[in-house]
Amino acid sequence: MTTVIEKNQKTRLEVGTPLLEVRDLHVEFHTRDGVAKAVNGVNYSVAAGETLAVLGESGSGKSVTAQTIMGILDMPPGKISQGQILYRGEDMLAMKEEQRRQIRGQKIAMIFQDALSSLNPVMTVGAQLGEMFRVHRGASRKEARDKAIELMERVRIPAAKQRVGDYPHQFSGGMRQRIMIAMALSMEPDLIIADEPTTALDVTVQAQVMDLLAELQAEYNMGLILITHDLGVVADVADKIAVMYAGRIVETAPVHELYANPAHPYTKGLLRSIPRLDQKGQELYAIKGLPPNLLKVPAGCAFNPRCDVATDLCRTEIPTLHHVTDKDGKELTGRRSACHLWKETLHG
Ligand code: SF4
Repeated sequence: MTTVIEKNQKTRLEVGTPLLEVRDLHVEFHTRDGVAKAVNGVNYSVAAGETLAVLGESGSGKSVTAQTIMGILDMPPGKISQGQILYRGEDMLAMKEEQRRQIRGQKIAMIFQDALSSLNPVMTVGAQLGEMFRVHRGASRKEARDKAIELMERVRIPAAKQRVGDYPHQFSGGMRQRIMIAMALSMEPDLIIADEPTTALDVTVQAQVMDLLAELQAEYNMGLILITHDLGVVADVADKIAVMYAGRIVETAPVHELYANPAHPYTKGLLRSIPRLDQKGQELYAIKGLPPNLLKVPAGCAFNPRCDVATDLCRTEIPTLHHVTDKDGKELTGRRSACHLWKETLHG
């Protein structure tokens, strides 16, 4: 007999199908002290089977952009002042709330950093995983439980059948994050947004969780937006990277090109800050200073007070994000930089 759940299983999207496009998004926060422009003209896109890593320090706007896509940003104080968020060509911001809700959760799912506070402490993980099927797919209690076990097995939780009745606090941090991944996968979304999914975990478990995410993403042909402050965790899983600073994208590049040769001094600094085994005993590099207060962003390039190569132009004129070229003037596909000195940074 075909179950409710089997009837609902969808076909995989073809790799490369455009899924999400953020266009010229502006988000601001109205506070007593003024207006903080948290997201300032952000553009990015992700297709089926593709992983975009969005990288930046706290306050760069990476999480606010994700929360705006998911519709979970508190408004007020937040306000979308401009832009579009296209899901498969349709602007979610112009949709009726009901249609938007269908997409968020079922087509686009989110994984948060802190699994313990995202899971309900007084419900078993099986009940939490199964609830989605009961609510959205009309599954019976038994079907929902079976599906919960299947999902737990899918994210490699050992002895899933025995543990389906356990509560979140009975699992380790890494296992709880796997449960969050299972929840995100439950409705077979086209796109997952993972916001610092491994930050709370130790390094070995981080690598296991990232590998699992990458494997599931490839298997389901999902799009994945990986939000992180840590360049070290995305090298093996991302296809392309967007680096954010003070609400703007300052560099985009295919992942290996960005690691090999960044075109923005901020990216360069982030790469130098990654601890390396061959530099044992040496002092770890850190970019000087702190990210700016969004109520008082420096004039010109927002990075100029922290930039070792800043010029007078950097202190007066905001650099736009534009395509960069190789030494022969040929445009480099997917590579853009918002730096007045991108040529010197890229070509030395
Ligand atoms: Fe540094 Fe100027 Fe480039 Fe900004 S525009 S990153 S201050 S060189």
